[in-house]
Amino acid sequence: SVEQTNNMTYADHAAAFGPRLSEKGKLGFLIEPEQDPTGCSPVVVEKPPFLQEDSWIALVRRGDCSFITKVRSMQKSGATAVVVGDPDHPGRWITMYAPGDTSDVLIPSVFLAQEEYLSLLSLARTGPIPIRLELDDFISWPLIDVLIIVVISPTILLVLIYISWRIRQRQKRRAELADVKTVNKLTIKKFNRQKIRENEREECAICLEDYMEADSLRVLPCQHDFHAQCVDAWLTTQKKFCPICKACIERLPCPQQQHERGM
Ligand SMILES: [Zn+2]
Ligand SMILES: [Zn+2]
Repeated sequence: SVEQTNNMTYADHAAAFGPRLSEKGKLGFLIEPEQDPTGCSPVVVEKPPFLQEDSWIALVRRGDCSFITKVRSMQKSGATAVVVGDPDHPGRWITMYAPGDTSDVLIPSVFLAQEEYLSLLSLARTGPIPIRLELDDFISWPLIDVLIIVVISPTILLVLIYISWRIRQRQKRRAELADVKTVNKLTIKKFNRQKIRENEREECAICLEDYMEADSLRVLPCQHDFHAQCVDAWLTTQKKFCPICKACIERLPCPQQQHERGM
């Protein structure tokens, strides 16, 4: 932020290039270079005699050249920091970027939106005003902005998508299975070789073992039978339909069958 001596504080956005402000900030007199208020070319700033030894901070207007050009030419002109303001667009905040190697930039620079810029400008035009550029909260560091936008937000989004996908998968899976209570209500009979009729199966289609006398068999609504143990495990952990004819053990069609019918 830009702090003015009468304790007015203006919000700013630090540039993505150049050094970061130190903990104690940057003190100086804010001066708008009269020769070139855009700061696009180096200027000679005439400081009043009482300011000769003090450092000055350039207040320049956005436009006509790139941010990095302004900062370089103000550095060349002896400024110790640069404040770039946008005179035209209310409320538009920009983090100043520069392509390529900017290691020659040795002074910090910040960006001000219209309202903050114009109010500081009117003060600066009354004469050099002492200000302090302050290091803001950690979060206003531009790289953190970028980090949040580029890395953290998509990661959070992906995690949320993954969680909701898992929940939906689990719900879908649960809808495909029979619960133990439903399965226990299905008919049980004891295998009896004497009572067997023609065309009745004598083996379990799940484990492919022949039925033994007095084996406990589960009879599904479709009249297919299996070892109770075998088919109970199938219905509660695989699918809630008959492994032979795919008839659902419940009255409603099973979810996966709806799907197969394209409903
Ligand atoms: Zn079996
Ligand atoms: Zn069946």
